Amino acid sequence: MLDFAYVNPTKILFGAGCIAKLGKEIPADAHVLVTYGGGSAERNGTLAEVEAALPGRRISRFGGIEPNPTYETLMRAVEQARRDGVDFLLAVGGGSVIDGTKFIAAAIPFEGEPWDILARQARVTRAVPLGVVLTLPATGSESNAFAVISRAATQDKLAFSTPKVFPRVAALDPARTLSLPERQVANGIVDAFVHVIEQYLTYPAEAPLQDRLAEGILLTLIEEGPKTLADPTAPGPRGSLMWCATLGLNGLIGAGVPQDWATHLIGHEITALTGLDHGRTLAIVLPALLDVRREAKRAKLIQFGKRVWGLSGDDDSVIDQAIARTRAFFESLGVATRLSAAGLAPDLVERIPERLTAHGLTALGERQDIGPDTVAEILRRAL
Ligand code: NAP
Ligand code: FE
Repeated sequence: MLDFAYVNPTKILFGAGCIAKLGKEIPADAHVLVTYGGGSAERNGTLAEVEAALPGRRISRFGGIEPNPTYETLMRAVEQARRDGVDFLLAVGGGSVIDGTKFIAAAIPFEGEPWDILARQARVTRAVPLGVVLTLPATGSESNAFAVISRAATQDKLAFSTPKVFPRVAALDPARTLSLPERQVANGIVDAFVHVIEQYLTYPAEAPLQDRLAEGILLTLIEEGPKTLADPTAPGPRGSLMWCATLGLNGLIGAGVPQDWATHLIGHEITALTGLDHGRTLAIVLPALLDVRREAKRAKLIQFGKRVWGLSGDDDSVIDQAIARTRAFFESLGVATRLSAAGLAPDLVERIPERLTAHGLTALGERQDIGPDTVAEILRRAL
């Protein structure tokens, strides 16, 4: 096992009625800015339920945070929050609203140009405290220190991370996800699955517990994910999906193990150039990446094939089938696994490595040995 420090300070409130308990977690004298997206939280009553849980607080709203939240939109929230003297942020939504709110939290007290937090990885020394009401199980953002922000003007999509933006509290009520369109549920299953893979399917690190935890989440996603699509009214599988997604990227399974993240970094550039949903970019990149990296990941691919997909036989056929089963799983959720099937142009094979290079991302993967040529090879295999 590699050395690690592990801390996760987010208090999780799970289950029906957990939103009503938020009042105890947010200071009674806080001026709360409730942030949300394009209107789903308003339409399905989540916003009203959230505000009813905060009697006595001054509440302001900032809506309109778009999927793949943009710097342009978020800076309007920063101006509003600075003007109003807001001292607590409450994100109501999926990964985009949560990530966007983390950026707002860091940008409010930031001296200088807040884009530097992303483009130059400028140090964040302070942030406004934030909480989350999760409406879309996928990213794990409700209980981690990461955020991914886009800049429309320059087609950038960049990440930052600082413990200062860990949510203080996150309310996970599965019933609040029942209004999700099928496409978003499927995207969320794929995103959570790939988060686990990025921390598991690397090279062996003598971390048997982390392996078993990761395999447990993968198996649960494979079993429960399709149930949430088959019966979109059932809160049980939705609850399992929520907890899988949270534990998939809250630091636990990643402690003490090598981490890949190449699929995500390539996927971010695809979204930035084409607007394709985050989860959908991952479903295209991952099977191709596993194929190109089959020797570097050989031992873990065999373990993955045997333990997660229940395969047997000679090693090379286990690897072939493990990749094929992963692809088939994504497709069974209605998510395309080829650039062409997603309607994307083949020139991405050249454009994505260029964009990664422009962002200084030329040494990806758990061994930092995926350069622009390998990225091009992965994308060619994903055509
Ligand atoms: P999302 O972009 O937050 O939301 C997608 C869509 O789902 C929105 O149109 C939203 O509509 C709708 N929606 C959300 N909850 C709903 C509900 N309960 N009922 C009906 N519609 C609902 O999706 P996401 O997959 O959660 O987040 C993707 C973003 O997270 C990407 O930018 C990705 O890069 C990032 N990400 C972050 C991390 C991390 O660790 N921080 C990890 C992976 C990915 P409204 O706008 O109308 O609400
Ligand atoms: Fe993700």
